Amino acid sequence: APDVVTLGETMVLLSAPSIGPLRHARSLDVAIGGAESNVAVGLTRLGLRVGWLGRVGDDEFGRLVRNTLAGEGIDVSAVTDTGAPTGLMVKARRTSASTEVNYYRAGSAGSRLCPDDVPSDLLRGARLLHITGITPALSASARKAVDAAISLAGPATPVSLDVNYRQALWSPAEAAPVLRDLFTRCDILFATEAEARLILDDPRVASPLDLARALAALPGAPAQILLKRGARGAIAIVDGIPYDAPVHHVDAVDPVGAGDAFAAGYLAEYLAGADVHTRLATAAAAGAFAVTVQGDWEGLPRRDELALLQLLDADDAV
Ligand code: ATP
Repeated sequence: APDVVTLGETMVLLSAPSIGPLRHARSLDVAIGGAESNVAVGLTRLGLRVGWLGRVGDDEFGRLVRNTLAGEGIDVSAVTDTGAPTGLMVKARRTSASTEVNYYRAGSAGSRLCPDDVPSDLLRGARLLHITGITPALSASARKAVDAAISLAGPATPVSLDVNYRQALWSPAEAAPVLRDLFTRCDILFATEAEARLILDDPRVASPLDLARALAALPGAPAQILLKRGARGAIAIVDGIPYDAPVHHVDAVDPVGAGDAFAAGYLAEYLAGADVHTRLATAAAAGAFAVTVQGDWEGLPRRDELALLQLLDADDAV
């Protein structure tokens, strides 16, 4: 049985290899991506067994999603939906410093995930369930699938939640109550500063540490709160105690996927029984690795590669 189970939508990712308006791109690179499966790849590379649940279309793109995740060693329980296509994500680089992602996912196979797609035996054996705030935004049935997964995992299985607010999928007003509900049902929370403000609904809270503390003070708050701050690092509040994550100085070529990498690094060490400093060190290293490579997950490190980061940091210092 897998150590970790996760569920969500994974799409085919088409990205322009050249910089400029997308209509002038002469070709697009073909890959895949999805927040939960990105975390699954990260955890697998760090030595855990991971099960991913989702739906793909009965099309070549769906077979690409399935093959890629299986090829990474993930236990794939994907339903093939003959009534809808695999969703698409298109990544454009208008300037060398900006990445824009557009989704073609409304009505996709992945968005039709439903509670029947969640096998109870898989969850019963798991040591952790990882969910994101994307899945409940996809459809009513996908929201129910997330609820079913939490129920099937049971109170003894920790749940990690990456808020992952997606403005293309729902408004802050629609998202806030759903995300606040999931917040009270998770044990480990990953959020950006903007996502923390969305949950708190308090624009007055200023510093990142105050934000994290305010989250931790909410009724039903998870014991582990991780606030991600991009190139400025991350802070954590674990069992009421604040921590700072180390910051790596790397040459960032593609910011997408850093959050998923960070979650994978943190969760891998948490499941290994490591202390908070070690969890944050591996999380920060995985996040830094992710941004140094084009693609949402391809750059995620294996355990024996983590030390390579010191070389990148050293390069920067020269
Ligand atoms: P995304 O949604 O793009 O995947 P995110 O907004 O969820 O990312 P970030 O805060 O951008 O998450 O990144 C997560 C972590 O990865 C950061 O807290 C940091 O540890 C690391 N990280 C991100 N960007 C950089 C960078 N440019 N240099 C070094 N580390 C980075």
